[in-house]
Amino acid sequence: MPVDRTLFDEPLSESRAPNWRCPRCNGGHLRLMPETLHKKFSGDTNQAYKEEAFDYDWIITRFVAIVKCDNNECQETSVVAGIGKVIEVPNWEAQEIEYEDRYFPTYVNPSPPIIPLPKKCPESVTNELKIAAVSLWGDAASSANHLRSAVERLLDVLKVPKTKKGKNGRERLSLHMRIEIFEKNHPEQGQALKAAKWLGNAGSHAGVIEKKDVFNMFDILERVLEDIYAPHTKNLAKLIGAVNKAKGPV
Ligand SMILES: [Zn+2]
Repeated sequence: MPVDRTLFDEPLSESRAPNWRCPRCNGGHLRLMPETLHKKFSGDTNQAYKEEAFDYDWIITRFVAIVKCDNNECQETSVVAGIGKVIEVPNWEAQEIEYEDRYFPTYVNPSPPIIPLPKKCPESVTNELKIAAVSLWGDAASSANHLRSAVERLLDVLKVPKTKKGKNGRERLSLHMRIEIFEKNHPEQGQALKAAKWLGNAGSHAGVIEKKDVFNMFDILERVLEDIYAPHTKNLAKLIGAVNKAKGPV
């Protein structure tokens, strides 16, 4: 299932956090602990506050808070930090404009998982995906680099060669060449990894990659990891074929 982008763009308010899945138990959701929320004006806002023309939409705050898993068996906690803004909320009954704080995270650690990870997914790949999830909040390029590393680690685990014989002894194979070797036996997954690699390459050039591209990389890797480590879609297709052929239970 594609990443739900809205979950990772939605701000927090004093009373609630978006429906982020817990990174520890995967069953609960992370909830804001209001008593842990601390905010202070930025330096520029402190300066501007003295000006006569000051308006609420000039406000930028820095905030930190703890979110906690609502599954009592788990109670995982996570640190959230970022930038706060003040938004206008019309109160139709009182016919007044009210002001509320909204908090936009640039750091969440441990981060809610961006994609579900199959249980059999190797630890070296999982580790890169977890770091990529933390980086995603504030640094899309770094996140893309970690996803690119996840592809490298996946090829390592699948025993795809890293070097070849050259004029001067063993030469390192590029990621592109390694994917092409892998693609010979896994054409679909190979094409998908190549697409992830192109997006990851863009992550090495600051400013070229955006959060939306990293979400696309996560979507592609989710599909490949599911194919390799949780092939229930393939199994389901086989089952459907078998039931149809037997015209009854198999
Ligand atoms: Zn939990």
